Amino acid sequence: MNAAEIFVKLCGEVGNFTQRHTGISVVDAYFGPEDLHPAKQSTEKTAEELVSDIHQAFDTLRDEIEDPLRMENMMGELHSLNVVVDWLAGKEMSYAELVEGLFHITLKKFPENEIDKIIQLVEERISEFPGANLQDKITNFGSDGEITGEALQRLIEDELQEKSVEIGTMFRERVFSLIGASVPDKGVHYEAVRNQPWSGYNWYQGGFKSLNQFNIDAKFNKDTLQGVIYHEYEHHVSNLWREKAYLNSQHLELSIVPLHTGSCVISEGTADTAKEFLGIADDSPRISVVNALYGLRRMTSINAAIMMNEEGKSADEAVDYMVNRGFRAQESARQSINFISPTAQDGRPNFFAPYIYTYFIGRTNFVLPTYLKAVEKDVLPEFFKTVYMNPYSGSSVTWNKAFEWM
Ligand SMILES: [Zn+2]
Repeated sequence: MNAAEIFVKLCGEVGNFTQRHTGISVVDAYFGPEDLHPAKQSTEKTAEELVSDIHQAFDTLRDEIEDPLRMENMMGELHSLNVVVDWLAGKEMSYAELVEGLFHITLKKFPENEIDKIIQLVEERISEFPGANLQDKITNFGSDGEITGEALQRLIEDELQEKSVEIGTMFRERVFSLIGASVPDKGVHYEAVRNQPWSGYNWYQGGFKSLNQFNIDAKFNKDTLQGVIYHEYEHHVSNLWREKAYLNSQHLELSIVPLHTGSCVISEGTADTAKEFLGIADDSPRISVVNALYGLRRMTSINAAIMMNEEGKSADEAVDYMVNRGFRAQESARQSINFISPTAQDGRPNFFAPYIYTYFIGRTNFVLPTYLKAVEKDVLPEFFKTVYMNPYSGSSVTWNKAFEWM
């Protein structure tokens, strides 16, 4: 087997291992050859065997892969998978070591004075909106256009389906036209689901199609729903380019998309920056409140995750924190515990517990500053080319190197 085949096989095996321990596979999408399909890989391998195979794969990669960015990308991915295996095998590690090992970023709690600053920003921007005090204003703001249950289901299955066609056109007209290249797109199918730890999920199906699921147990209003739609659609777009790159290059490792690696930091970062990419980050009073609230909510969710996973605080304490400092509704804060809690409801390790960092850190430490620099230097076409046409740029391990030209 060559290095890329070994890589795909290992991802599948680690996927089967995480499935066994948490109910969720680390493999998020696969569109490669049938014989390397994760479902056809061993489900029996022990943690020791997997770690030993990963170490052997490092050597093979070093010997075989010549393109340095490609090699660093693949090594970074395998390093993360090694940490995934160690974590679920019960190896002693702190939450900070887990997050840093998976995502190659530094875990840091936001100090309360930084939270104060962003609360102050929300307060300034929301001042003209109705309500007796800040809490009241944020509650009113959130319930404006709030939609739940069956109405939400109808919206998702009818109107969003149309909206996605519109967003697809926007990507073609505003982003791909700058690149001067096109990508096949068979569209996104929308579905409402319940009982999930996340609020929305893009399942890339291969063959240039996606399934977008929205969790209708989560509370949405018109702003948060819009945020999720753009976010999930960008995941679809970035996978379209990845599949195209795979078909053109026949580099097998591109046909598998693992979770919990440096790639997630960039893929969540680009998804959270989709509105800027499409030039729809308008500065209406409503949007400027939404943007400030976005920062406050992502930062307080990260702090709540650290409280639960690192400081041993209870779910109630984390909920109180998100309500008091993030100005979240009780119910919505409670819902988000499913995503950040160290254990899932079935008592097994919560596979998503370390994941909350990828969004905010991906956007603010990687994607947004590079995007803004590209705007300033008037090199947006090259920026988008690097993001979408060089699949090896898309990892926290390789991002800065991929943009050295800028
Ligand atoms: Zn996402």
